[in-house]
Amino acid sequence: MTIGGFVRGYKFAYMLLAASLLDRRNRLNQIAYVNGAFVPLAEAKVSILDRGFLFADGIYEVSAVLDGKLVDNASHLARLERSVGEIALALPEPLSRIVEIQRELIARNQLENGLVYMEVTRGADVGRDFAFPKSGVKPTLVMFTSVKDIVNAPAAKAGIGVITVPDIRWTRRDIKSVALLAQVLAKQAAAEAGAGEAWMIEDGKVTEGGSSSAFILTQDDVLVTRQNSSAILPGCTRRAVVALAEERQLRVEERPFTIQEALAAKEAFITSASLFVQPVVSIDGKTVANGKPGPMAARLREIYIDFARATAV
Ligand code: PLP
Repeated sequence: MTIGGFVRGYKFAYMLLAASLLDRRNRLNQIAYVNGAFVPLAEAKVSILDRGFLFADGIYEVSAVLDGKLVDNASHLARLERSVGEIALALPEPLSRIVEIQRELIARNQLENGLVYMEVTRGADVGRDFAFPKSGVKPTLVMFTSVKDIVNAPAAKAGIGVITVPDIRWTRRDIKSVALLAQVLAKQAAAEAGAGEAWMIEDGKVTEGGSSSAFILTQDDVLVTRQNSSAILPGCTRRAVVALAEERQLRVEERPFTIQEALAAKEAFITSASLFVQPVVSIDGKTVANGKPGPMAARLREIYIDFARATAV
């Protein structure tokens, strides 16, 4: 290598490091909400006695933000309300106040495109008792935002590979609990395999992705996705995509499917608030159809983005 080449390489590495340090600083300067206060993310703290930390005794939600507005937020808040109800946890603030906090975070962080994360836990008691605190313990509410250009995500054009893993989760997956260890391990395995998502398998059928709903388009143009039950999280994006597809007279069958069916399908894709609709082009290294993103996923993605823009508030 020439001296010039060495200096250029060194400068480039230095610029990458500087950019990543700046990104970290910018992220930590973002304003978060913790139990009534707006504070920089770096200073946002909860107690080590918080039951979310000790027992994963909490619920979370994620809403997308497009052009500074919340996408399908009513659906996410309805699921939040249902999830907390299922674990007998009272929201510390009414939903109307939660929306105000969401908006304030978007404004304070000048968030154009990204996500608002919300978490409510059963609060911090004086020790580590499994049973609920007797009384006087206020639930913890934390919220923060992150920047993400969901509409222009490169994976939406290129598609992603998925790997399959056994679904080792508990049997109340309809509750959006913060107990996500099974998904952490599944998604880490996907990352190590160079895949974008893990599809979880139970009794030979796909339940859902680590953090997304799973769909296929059969050779006779039927959209198939598993029906809602306690086996999966009822995805808000899944719900909207199914409704938008049905409005357009597309055939939708809500039933489980196997990996063999997915590999024999015309297309496969995933949906979630943080990626909208994203094509799946391979499963465990085997291509779906010709290994290229299909037209249906692209069309549903456009339809969903139009819906999101038209209805975001
Ligand atoms: N399934 C699981 C297990 C998830 O964690 C998520 C989102 O995080 C989804 C599905 C998609 O849900 P939504 O479309 O509401 O984001």
